[in-house]
Amino acid sequence: MEPRLLTSYEKIRGNFRNGLAVVPVVRDACGGCFYSIPPQKQSEIKQHKKIIACENCGRILVDEELHNNIEVK
Ligand SMILES: [Zn+2]
Repeated sequence: MEPRLLTSYEKIRGNFRNGLAVVPVVRDACGGCFYSIPPQKQSEIKQHKKIIACENCGRILVDEELHNNIEVK
């Protein structure tokens, strides 16, 4: 796992412990409430540079690959 991805993962896992939901981006939309995610935000999510939350429901958005990593651990 690349360091940048691992850092994001650790942050998200910390948030997850605090009770915040993490959902994957599915078909350009929030996996929790299906609110569509603008392309700009999607690219930020894929870059793993910062934690992006859904504007509509407040859940933390991750790309599907990272979401799968969280579930496996
Ligand atoms: Zn949402």
